[in-house]
Amino acid sequence: MARDGREGSIEVITGVMFSGKSEELLRRVRRALIARRKVQVFKSHLDDRYSGIMAISSHDGRHIEAVAINEARQIAERLDPDAEVVAIDEVQFLDDTVVEIVNDLADRGVRVIVSGTDMDFRGLPFGPIGPLLAIAERIDKLHAICVVCGDLATRNQRLIDGKPAPAEGPTIQVGGAESYEARCRRHHEVPSVADDQMSLVDR
Ligand code: ADP
Repeated sequence: MARDGREGSIEVITGVMFSGKSEELLRRVRRALIARRKVQVFKSHLDDRYSGIMAISSHDGRHIEAVAINEARQIAERLDPDAEVVAIDEVQFLDDTVVEIVNDLADRGVRVIVSGTDMDFRGLPFGPIGPLLAIAERIDKLHAICVVCGDLATRNQRLIDGKPAPAEGPTIQVGGAESYEARCRRHHEVPSVADDQMSLVDR
């Protein structure tokens, strides 16, 4: 799978929800297409919020057709052998084997661009993002705007009925603006069910 002797690489676009990761991934994909590179886009199909599972979308509505996957091995299975650029959106939902697959692609001369949120709603590292950051040639960490104070947001605030969701909830719960907000560290709230029970006892 030689690609005109080009060196492969891994680029990671990460950060909080609403920080423009999908927009940036799309921008790089569009520019690769302008450069007449053969591009293939994969998207974890757990996330089909905006326009169905076969497209990657940014919040401004732009989209490009993508191969929907729900396990990392499907990247290897459905790979176009001629692909020079492979982009993977919402990589945080994939299992850890994505790290080896991505590394292998880069070793074979492919430019790999992955995007995904770096922290879960508790503020802990999300899925395979940590190891991907470690092996990447290039990392861009994007920020959104904190909906509470207007500072730079780094955290995913999960909401249930408009209130901060407890830490005990499932790590993966796909949602958009109705159930997540971008917030700064100071305004990121992760209550614990145990704390709620304690406060009931106090009363
Ligand atoms: P991501 O892939 O990181 O979730 P998108 O590329 O889908 O982000 O969307 C980014 C867009 O979301 C911004 O260009 C902006 O129009 C919109 N947006 C909505 N809420 C916010 C916010 N709190 N901070 C910044 N941008 C926001």
